[in-house]
Amino acid sequence: HAPNIRPVIRQLDDSAINRIAAGEVVERPASAVKELVENAIDAGATRIDIAIADGGKTLIRVSDDGCGIAGGDLPLALSRHATSKIDGSDLLNINSFGFRGEALPSLGAVGRLTITSRVPGEEAAQIAVAGGQAGPVKPAALNAGTVVELRDLFYATPARLKFLRTDRAEGQAITDVVKRLAMAEPFAAFTLRDVSGGGEGRVVFRADAESGDLFDALHGRLAGVLGAEFAENALRIDAEREGFHLSGFAALPTYSRGAAVAQFLFVNGRPVRDKLLIGALRAAYFDFLSRDRHPVAALFVDCAPTLVDVNVHPAKSEVRFRDPGTVRGLIVSALRHALAGAGHRASSTVAG
Ligand code: ADP
Ligand code: MG
Repeated sequence: HAPNIRPVIRQLDDSAINRIAAGEVVERPASAVKELVENAIDAGATRIDIAIADGGKTLIRVSDDGCGIAGGDLPLALSRHATSKIDGSDLLNINSFGFRGEALPSLGAVGRLTITSRVPGEEAAQIAVAGGQAGPVKPAALNAGTVVELRDLFYATPARLKFLRTDRAEGQAITDVVKRLAMAEPFAAFTLRDVSGGGEGRVVFRADAESGDLFDALHGRLAGVLGAEFAENALRIDAEREGFHLSGFAALPTYSRGAAVAQFLFVNGRPVRDKLLIGALRAAYFDFLSRDRHPVAALFVDCAPTLVDVNVHPAKSEVRFRDPGTVRGLIVSALRHALAGAGHRASSTVAG
């Protein structure tokens, strides 16, 4: 029977709002690592060191040598919808990884977050947040850049914690995120260490800064991340159509995989998992691979920010192109052309 109670509409407090938002932005430790490393890249860092413990569940620490945050701005960096990256006037013109101003407040709502930072010419400062409550800004010791430390992710939301997988699986997801971002930023140096056992820890992944032009740097970085064999079997892709530029490397059909695990796609420098792009990659190799084989490629689509909407999902891993047909056509034709050319070279070598 209908209860004799009128529903009450309440305004939720900030801490509840942040926990709800965190549900979308921070699904697992790897999503926290992604947000923090993207912030470091947005800050212009050339060196990014990541330390994790217990699959990132008890500790994630990202240190960078980027522009830093002034002590006076630390509380603002932790408040919702506060960002230095856009002014809100043109949401269709976004050039940074971040723009929603949600990552830090969300992380501060679901874990114990400490930010230590220093801008040139000022003393370093630190702020700590737990359960969404920020403490005071305090003086700290740091030479330059920013260190963000996230401890005990989801300690305040045990239901979330229960859904996490093993330390090993969560650690693997973190490695995957770091590798993708490392491919997108070949001129920056990355280290990922597992410090579960204490001390300096074990290096899980490391990539030194590459040099040269973008193609050289990318080729070097891909050799480091995907292996020298990929680099030796990769065709250079460089094509353009109606405002969309496609670049990167795609492996020869003979260097394929039994599963679609090595397809790295980027839109304006942002790692994405996009059905359209994956479908185009598949279609391009259709005539060159048997049905149970999958291509290996790292491809970058670049276009004016107005031709693609990255604000489709809070995690920003999906995008929407204004003209999907052109992008698909560009990928399919550029790859087919490269693969066919390589095939001719290979067969003429055999014949000759
Ligand atoms: P967004 O990245 O969408 O702007 P965040 O919550 O991730 O939102 O960060 C809020 C703000 O804090 C950023 O806009 C930036 O000004 C500052 N910030 C965060 N991380 C760093 C960092 N590693 N170095 C310098 N500034 C940072
Ligand atoms: Mg951010």
